[in-house]
Amino acid sequence: MSTIFQKIIDGEISADVVYEDSECIVIHDVAPQAPIHMLVIPKRLIPRVGLATEEDQQILGKLLLVAGKIANSENLDGGFRIVINNGADGGESVPHLHVHVLGGRAMKWPPG
Ligand code: AMP
Repeated sequence: MSTIFQKIIDGEISADVVYEDSECIVIHDVAPQAPIHMLVIPKRLIPRVGLATEEDQQILGKLLLVAGKIANSENLDGGFRIVINNGADGGESVPHLHVHVLGGRAMKWPPG
């Protein structure tokens, strides 16, 4: 069964799309945890970073590059946070790899 992100990529469900190219899509998170909260999602399914393979090296790098560009385009000059949740204990709720880009407020450390 396809995930919510696959349905967004396939155009079956609408989303607030910020950026899209042949390899990835960037959307606003529907339940933002910061003033800026976007998700960078590869179009080709990788369930989670722990299941990535050597074949995924290029797209993994691309996701971070796009995340940085998105943060810059939002003028997050004071800083921002990139998060990848992996598995149940990591807080993952959608088993389709995605990079969270959070900003617009000061982040705390350690994360919860
Ligand atoms: P994670 O918990 O790391 O798997 O992140 C999944 C994220 O997807 C959560 O922050 C959700 O708020 C977000 N999310 C779930 N459904 C949607 C949707 N339809 N559009 C945008 N974001 C979504």
